[in-house]
Amino acid sequence: MHERDRRKRAVAAAAAVGVDALVVTHGPDVRYLCGFTGSSGAVALAGTRGVLFTDGRYTTQARSEVAEAGGGVRVAIDKRPPAVRAVEWLAKVGVARCGFDGGQTTVVSLEAMRKAAKAGGAGRGWLVPTDSLVAELRQVKDGDEIGRMQRAAALGCRLFEGVLGELKARVPEAEVAARLEFAARMAGAEGMSFETIVTGGQRTALPHGRAGGTKLPKRGFVTLDFGVLLEGYCSDMTRTVHLGKASDRERDVYHSVLEAQVAAVAAVGPGVRCGDVDEAARSVLRRAKLAKAFSHSTGHGVGLEIHEGPRVAAGQEQVLEPGMVITIEPGVYLAGEFGIRIEDMVLVTAEGAEVLTAASCKALMQL
Ligand code: ZN
Ligand code: ZN
Repeated sequence: MHERDRRKRAVAAAAAVGVDALVVTHGPDVRYLCGFTGSSGAVALAGTRGVLFTDGRYTTQARSEVAEAGGGVRVAIDKRPPAVRAVEWLAKVGVARCGFDGGQTTVVSLEAMRKAAKAGGAGRGWLVPTDSLVAELRQVKDGDEIGRMQRAAALGCRLFEGVLGELKARVPEAEVAARLEFAARMAGAEGMSFETIVTGGQRTALPHGRAGGTKLPKRGFVTLDFGVLLEGYCSDMTRTVHLGKASDRERDVYHSVLEAQVAAVAAVGPGVRCGDVDEAARSVLRRAKLAKAFSHSTGHGVGLEIHEGPRVAAGQEQVLEPGMVITIEPGVYLAGEFGIRIEDMVLVTAEGAEVLTAASCKALMQL
């Protein structure tokens, strides 16, 4: 099972930063390491030993999920906060230094962890804040994860094609979102990976506009940005279509965004810096005098979480590796006029890249 291998790599990553144990509390990291999906849990890792601490609500679920993920982790049920129990256990088994994820630990939780460490006999400086080591490992997907993400992305494409017939003048944005979400659940999705964005007309100029009571226009753009959660993994895609006849300006801007998106996808490959992928999109829009209207970064990693590493943004030095899954989503937002975003999920492969959301048409679609 992959989880055992992931735990081995997490322990190695910890050793590389000088700690011989880890307490992992962030939900997606916990799931990644042992399969447990409950809302409250902590994994303690020391050498080849691993314990999942959770509470009585999850006794049955934790045991079956850990077993399904290949076992190798003991499940311990306790009333006290899981992070506290994990720290106590690690202090007692005598590890020299224990790392915790500084980005995922509240001040209150850290205080409780410190107390537990002390009670367990650990000295000062035993608890060491580390970077998000497990989240870093999660950036490179293994074969099992890639399969899940391909299925999630393919479902997203099917849903988009299914909802196209609902995109008509005077239909409220929220109704489009509701139909899409209903279809997602009916198709087996556990839920949506984030709040569905459906905007029409001038509202497409809001990069993250909420689907509300506003009705789709007779003539103008409609943006759909949505994703499903399938087998634990997120999909993420955006399409902008046009209702009625598009003006020359709308056409021109659409084609600039599409050109930027295609250029950035073409730039993706192993060994390529994230900043260079961003620049591939940005330079196209700069030439079209639209760079100012591209107000966000080109993309982000996606996996168990909708937003994870790497960041595909200007100046990012991080280098892409085979197995990373990123989005490529340049957009142009012209307040008072319209906005356009086109987003695909892209898998970095040994040879280059594979677009996971390729099934749905990206050319300017006029409905
Ligand atoms: Zn998106
Ligand atoms: Zn995205």
